[in-house]
Amino acid sequence: MRIGIFGGTFNPPHLGHRHIVEDFREKMAAAGLPLDKVLIIPTFVPPHKETPDLASGEDRLAMCRLNFDAEVSDLEIRRGDTSYTWMTLEDLHAQYEDAELYFLMGDDMLLYLPHWKRPEKVLEEAVLVSTVRSDDCTVDTLRTFAQETYPDQYAAGRFLFFESEPLPMSSTEVRDLVRAHQYVELEQRLDPAVLRYILERELYT
Ligand code: ATP
Repeated sequence: MRIGIFGGTFNPPHLGHRHIVEDFREKMAAAGLPLDKVLIIPTFVPPHKETPDLASGEDRLAMCRLNFDAEVSDLEIRRGDTSYTWMTLEDLHAQYEDAELYFLMGDDMLLYLPHWKRPEKVLEEAVLVSTVRSDDCTVDTLRTFAQETYPDQYAAGRFLFFESEPLPMSSTEVRDLVRAHQYVELEQRLDPAVLRYILERELYT
């Protein structure tokens, strides 16, 4: 069984997030590695990092369920402590024995990998799938970085790369648009059910 994993704060989840997951599924299938399941994992935010703008874990989980056509996992929010990626992957392996895990991340995240907690363990637990989003980054840059920094894991096929065309939007922009009552722009960026959820609960005001 192949499981794709996509994590984020999702405060709130928007159509750009949904698009990247659809792209992830398509590119994996095209590479002959179709995903049996995608897990969306909203991150727990420790109290000292919380901002007045942060929706509760429950609200972010609920909005993810409305936004994604994929299973939403409360693993990290339920743990209620800083979750390092290696821990989450280890928990998923305990839950889904024999599953092959594919962890989706943007190019900026991949280049930061040496600063993560236990990067070698992360690469043992999952194949890292990086998308090229930034204008100043190419698949070649990422490939060279992976090959030079983690030669053994690179040779073992623990890295995959694909180009993607991200929709130009962010959660920060969405929160600003909610405060500015810009409903037309919000409808272009959010699933109608997510927008309704935000307005009914008066989030980000
Ligand atoms: P914020 O503006 O609050 O920083 P965000 O929109 O970047 O939020 P996150 O929840 O931080 O959203 O992102 C989760 C993941 O989604 C990250 O890997 C991020 O790189 C990716 N992502 C965010 N926006 C887009 C987008 N428009 N297209 C593709 N990927 C995106």
